[in-house]
Amino acid sequence: MQEFDIINKYFKPLIGKGALDLIDDCAIVQVKDNLIINTDTIVSNQHFFLEDPAPSIATKILMVNLSDITAMGAKPLYYSLSISLPKNHHNLYNEQWLSEFADTLKKIQELHNFYLIGGDTTTSNNDLVISVTMFGKQYASKPLLKSTAQVNEDVFVSGTIGDSYWGLQILKNDEKFRFLSKEHKDFLINSYHYPKPPIHLAKLLVNYVSSCTDVSDGLWVDLEKLCNYSKVLGHINLADVPLSKAVQEIVKNEEDIIKSITGGDDYQLIFTIPKSKSVNFQKYCKEHCLEVSKIGHIDNNNTHGLIVKNAKGEILSCTTKGFVH
Ligand code: ADP
Ligand code: MG
Repeated sequence: MQEFDIINKYFKPLIGKGALDLIDDCAIVQVKDNLIINTDTIVSNQHFFLEDPAPSIATKILMVNLSDITAMGAKPLYYSLSISLPKNHHNLYNEQWLSEFADTLKKIQELHNFYLIGGDTTTSNNDLVISVTMFGKQYASKPLLKSTAQVNEDVFVSGTIGDSYWGLQILKNDEKFRFLSKEHKDFLINSYHYPKPPIHLAKLLVNYVSSCTDVSDGLWVDLEKLCNYSKVLGHINLADVPLSKAVQEIVKNEEDIIKSITGGDDYQLIFTIPKSKSVNFQKYCKEHCLEVSKIGHIDNNNTHGLIVKNAKGEILSCTTKGFVH
């Protein structure tokens, strides 16, 4: 299929205002307020496997972007999509693949109310490379930043941590996880294939949170970055990190829990809330069944970084605190 036909058949049904029917050389959008802009790229054999289902690859490229937009306290408006289809795998990325890929993009767009405004379609030799630039709008007068945590705040994380990491380990070596129930195995593999950032939280968080980031490389490294950029010292307790029932069935020792918080690909949020607001926030989340957990606090700004302690109060160290690009 030629580039022009691919664009017309699969991508045109996803467009909205400003895309000019994908006829012109550029899209045009009018803006009054700040635009929150993010680009993320995924590459086969690095972020996903070539044979992964098309709906999984489509979900990943949108969700990794939506995770960043959410972490800034914003909602998505529209996006540009660049895709390079590998010539040496044209059997794999056929029309069926394109159709499933585009259908999944459409479902996610409709669920979160944003649309496609343009992009680029090219070929590569061996790798499938997909890049999305997402444009968003902040919910409040200010976006949420990584560099604005303060002393006397509590540290929270959304959802559960480590599911995707362990899902990937199962995909790499199924034998090692024979003891795991099918239900838990499926849950973890699904977490790897279909990231689910807490997009619904952004609107709430802007009322409480003083700093926020998403967990993409690993809880440890991403929170440490937030603390360093904010020039504060964070403390978290390993025992307070929320683990799903499935991960609880896997982790046997401290080392396994550390793997869960350094594995990455969680696409959950970590954020800090002044202690004066923290109780109210937790009450609200409980009443509305929102999954957030307090995992530590910020207490000192003479020095900065992150201290991770185990249940005995011992300070833990670790050489690889997250995914290295
Ligand atoms: P050019 O040759 O000027 O780069 P293209 O043929 O790449 O133009 O693109 C033609 C139109 O199709 C443009 O409006 C572009 O934004 C759109 N387009 C191309 N690829 C995609 C894609 N993957 N998703 C959405 N729109 C696309
Ligand atoms: Mg082009």
